[in-house]
Amino acid sequence: MKQRLLEFCNEIGIENAGIAHIGPYYDLEKILRNRIEKGHYTSFEERELERRIDPSLTMEGVKSIIVCLFPYFTGRVEDTNISKYTYPKDYHIVAREKLESIGEFLKSEIQGFEYKAFVDSGPLVDRYLVNIAGLGFYGINSHMITKEYGSYFFIGYILCNHGFEPDNSMDKTCIRCGECVKRCPGNAILGDFNINPNRCISYITQKKGELRKEEIRILNKNHMVFGCDICQDVCPHNKKIEHTKMEEFKIDLIYKLNYDEINSMSNKEFKRKYGDRAFSWRGKGIIIRNFEYLGYKE
Ligand code: SF4
Ligand code: SF4
Repeated sequence: MKQRLLEFCNEIGIENAGIAHIGPYYDLEKILRNRIEKGHYTSFEERELERRIDPSLTMEGVKSIIVCLFPYFTGRVEDTNISKYTYPKDYHIVAREKLESIGEFLKSEIQGFEYKAFVDSGPLVDRYLVNIAGLGFYGINSHMITKEYGSYFFIGYILCNHGFEPDNSMDKTCIRCGECVKRCPGNAILGDFNINPNRCISYITQKKGELRKEEIRILNKNHMVFGCDICQDVCPHNKKIEHTKMEEFKIDLIYKLNYDEINSMSNKEFKRKYGDRAFSWRGKGIIIRNFEYLGYKE
């Protein structure tokens, strides 16, 4: 059945899929506890540690986890002020649809099959799942890396009550060149496979409310109004990678936001035009705030 599953994934455009075991993930627990002690977590992260390391607390009777990657790299663009992952339409919609069709396919093949699909919304640590499902390895920049697509991919996973045979975790790391550590504008990359998200531009540009002085200083080391790609762009593992084959991520791309345009829009207009984009999830106000901290004025 695992073979049929992987074939089906391929048919719907998912080349990278694997099976993660259901833990509990005590090795991950250690890492997370350490991060919490050091204050290296953000308000976006699921705080309930137990749920992060034990999938059975999210789905009773879970027997395996199907992990899928959705590569999105379409080439490098110089004139941009948003992160690459937000160029196409919101990946949540695309990835969720594909995960749901996997779930429905398995329902038609396996009697009594049940599942729960997650893209970003689940309590589990999706990067950890990528590793234990044998799909990618850790970079010092805390991204997961694959051979074909580097680290430019989204992650989705399906908890299910069928015991697919788990894959072996990928037992290697990036080449540890240190380039990401040197080039990170916020000095957020700690060099031990952890980052301090509170110094990361990607987090700062999505954080609600007023920014602190230090956050504004970090923001101004770059020109991005949503996200940051530096630690991925400088990584040698991202140099000779393939472009995504997923049609959904190749079309209707937006590379740059314009302050005057967005500032002149009502919230409703912003939502109508950009509501299907990942950079819009925090609303117009956060984008304008970021522009203004970067010196744009009415
Ligand atoms: S996304 Fe940018 S700010 Fe965040 S760790 Fe990477 S280089 Fe540093
Ligand atoms: S830039 Fe170098 S150290 Fe950083 S993740 Fe890539 S290979 Fe590892």
